[in-house]
Amino acid sequence: MIDFHCHLDLYHEPMKIFTEVQKRRDFVLAVTTSPKAYQKTSYYFRGTDTVKVALGFHPELVAQRIEEKELFWMLMRKCKFLGEIGIDGSPRARGTILEQKCFFQEVVINANLCGGRIMSIHSRCAVKEILEILEHGVGLSKPVLHWFTGTKNEASRAVSLGCWFSINPNMCYTQSGREIIASLPIEKLLPETDAPFTQNNGEPYMPWDTSVISFLAHLYGMQYDNMDKQLQKNLIALIG
Ligand code: MN
Repeated sequence: MIDFHCHLDLYHEPMKIFTEVQKRRDFVLAVTTSPKAYQKTSYYFRGTDTVKVALGFHPELVAQRIEEKELFWMLMRKCKFLGEIGIDGSPRARGTILEQKCFFQEVVINANLCGGRIMSIHSRCAVKEILEILEHGVGLSKPVLHWFTGTKNEASRAVSLGCWFSINPNMCYTQSGREIIASLPIEKLLPETDAPFTQNNGEPYMPWDTSVISFLAHLYGMQYDNMDKQLQKNLIALIG
């Protein structure tokens, strides 16, 4: 199983889930929300190749935690995966959109200067802003748009920029989500949960949840196992 955007550190009992992920040999991209959280999370989730910890700075925290920025630039030199990063233009975060844009732009430029990074990107109510910045400087990096909610037109712009898309169960349950997913190239898709923020009957999704694979298999008229293989192939193409 693959979960390409999971807040593994924010579950009620993270080490229990971490142990289970290792036992199952699932691949989890454990995204973090600040450089300090990344340091702590990398310490706890060390010694495994199935869980990769991504260096993050959540757009909603960027403006209020300026003091952690230097740490981000320092850690970024050694970290292959960045996330959760991006821009949030929803009403509760719009007040800091200028700071968010500046920081995201700097991250994209620096990531390219570092030789490129794999980036899990948040774009709620800010797809236009994200695409503009990527169009100007994505360079050697590989952007993965997490929980993409843009228009079909924006989706095709993202595809032509070389973007990947991580799909979570909530996207599969809305009409607009389904239409967007159907318009994306199959070889650019990866499953995610964004758990523990996404829930199923009041319980957070687990990184080994299979509902996205089932949904995609149904959408493409494929056997579950073949879709599973396709997604594994996609992961290898992305991370090598
Ligand atoms: Mn997230």
